[in-house]
Amino acid sequence: MRIDDIASDLPRTNRLYLKDSYLREADSKILRVVREKGTRYYIVLDSSIFHPLGGGQPSDTGMLSASGFEFEVKKALESEGVIVLYGKSLEGEPREGLVVRQKLNWERRYLIMRLHTAGHVIDRAVSDIIGERIDTMGASHGPPRAYVEYKAEIGEDKLELIEKLANEILDDREVLIRKVSPEDLLSSIYGAPNLGRLPKAFVYRIVEIKGINAIPCSGTHVSRTSEVGKIRLVGVEALEGGSRLYYDVEGK
Ligand SMILES: [Zn+2]
Repeated sequence: MRIDDIASDLPRTNRLYLKDSYLREADSKILRVVREKGTRYYIVLDSSIFHPLGGGQPSDTGMLSASGFEFEVKKALESEGVIVLYGKSLEGEPREGLVVRQKLNWERRYLIMRLHTAGHVIDRAVSDIIGERIDTMGASHGPPRAYVEYKAEIGEDKLELIEKLANEILDDREVLIRKVSPEDLLSSIYGAPNLGRLPKAFVYRIVEIKGINAIPCSGTHVSRTSEVGKIRLVGVEALEGGSRLYYDVEGK
């Protein structure tokens, strides 16, 4: 089943998580239902608190419910701005037009928020330790193993320094989200990697960790860096043209 086909001709999903990453529940209407097999379905809603896989973030999970209907959301995917949920029905069947309550698996999401904000702080620490702005090649800011891939050779011997600096600068800083036009993009960002391959857009969403960096990003973040806890670098792996840095967050 192709996600593009399931999402075709539908309006772009209203992404509630972009406005409020702490939103755990919301009502929305089912716009499309496609049965995969048995009790497994693809469902498209008119709005979503579920962040789809992409932009360096793994998919959210959770539940949809209505009277006589219970559905487990196992993953959220995206096609052209339309978010497609995949999962299985535990009670009843989904139908188009039904209004359902979305509930986020908050424990997982909150961990992802802490990890994503930590990832941006690590970006800064890596650049400071290496001594130049380092581009990233990929990332997964979430369980089971969070990592960021950098276009630089990072030896094991650098991990302690990077970890120490990341925790020093972490502090209790404000994390600000704002939207800017393409004309204002360059004056609104600092310490941002990968500007060469930033897609064209009418409006950019900037995530600024005060004094650390301000980066175009569509992810979900905590609102203060003190919520991250302690950043721990757990290992580094050499890649072709770079390094993959595994990390985690502890305590709060
Ligand atoms: Zn990000």
